[in-house]
Amino acid sequence: MASIFSRIIAGEIPSYKVAEDDKHYAFLDINPVAAGHTLVVPKHEVDYIFDLPNNEYAELTAFAKKVAEAMKEVMPCKRVGVAVMGLEVPHAHIHLLPINSESDMNFFAEKKQLQPEEMKAIAEKIFNKFNENETSHPEIF
Ligand code: AMP
Repeated sequence: MASIFSRIIAGEIPSYKVAEDDKHYAFLDINPVAAGHTLVVPKHEVDYIFDLPNNEYAELTAFAKKVAEAMKEVMPCKRVGVAVMGLEVPHAHIHLLPINSESDMNFFAEKKQLQPEEMKAIAEKIFNKFNENETSHPEIF
């Protein structure tokens, strides 16, 4: 059975999309630890991130880097933190979180309660910046 993330990528389940290319999809985490908490996913469904072939792992991290750059430009934060867990959804993914302190990476903390309009506005900001960056300085990977 397709993972919930494959169903999101296929458009069967809605998501707040922040970036996409032919091999990857990025969208807001529905239970954000921080505002702008984003998941970066390969379209190729593989359960465990470190089971990805080396080239796909490298491409995923390069795509995540571009998403993080766009996030850093539009979300007020000192850094974009990175986490990989994969205990809940068996489809490889990278968590990206706009952070100002270590405590902003606390996955045990109460999740942020953001209204759909706020989620939509955040996703649009990152999406627009990502696409602006792609147009103004496309990278060849
Ligand atoms: P983990 O697999 O432990 O890295 O965590 C999976 C993450 O996916 C959690 O942070 C969930 O909040 C998030 N998640 C699960 N379902 C959805 C969904 N439909 N849309 C967005 N995020 C989701």
